[in-house]
Amino acid sequence: MNKGKLIVFSAPSGSGKTTIVRHLLGKEDLNLEFSISAASRDPREGEINGKDYYFISLEEFKKHIKAEDFLEWEEVYRDNFYGTLKSEIERIWALGKNVIFDIDVAGGLRIKHKFPEQTLAVFVKPPSVDELKRRLKERSTESEDKINMRIAKASVELATAPQFDVIIKNYDLPVALQEAHQLVKDFVSK
Ligand code: 5GP
Repeated sequence: MNKGKLIVFSAPSGSGKTTIVRHLLGKEDLNLEFSISAASRDPREGEINGKDYYFISLEEFKKHIKAEDFLEWEEVYRDNFYGTLKSEIERIWALGKNVIFDIDVAGGLRIKHKFPEQTLAVFVKPPSVDELKRRLKERSTESEDKINMRIAKASVELATAPQFDVIIKNYDLPVALQEAHQLVKDFVSK
């Protein structure tokens, strides 16, 4: 099987990594396919099963853990499990494409450690924790409680940034998009 490259984007919730990943998926020169994670949370409005995530029950998720079907998984928030199925990476490699991940910092670093040469691990840094809070509130997809849970986790996540291959500062979105494109382009053409 042609083993393509692995591009990991990790960051605290609200840093803009999803926006960056979506932008890169539109760039044909990068030959990317999105790694669809399995998740035990409910879909948000507009999210599609099999596109944004494979939405599965907590019970089903635990069965996959037991069967060792995951390349990595995390209980990112209490009772919200997310994970990358090994079969997902094989699906993308079989297409002859590079894999791009939008996953939390612990999962991102795990993939980097499993495939050190093949992986580019990128950390997306928000301007500040206050700005994160503002963005999450503006997005208003989560309850106040859930937003606070994400903010509390953000400080811990920010401390892991130096373990990544590269840090992209998302202070000005067009600049961050341009930087991300160039970075990934250089890596996939190596
Ligand atoms: P959300 O609920 O906002 O879609 O995602 C919550 C967090 O889980 C985000 O930081 C997202 O990147 C992360 N996440 C999504 N999929 C995975 C995965 O497969 N593995 C890990 N470790 N984290 C994931």
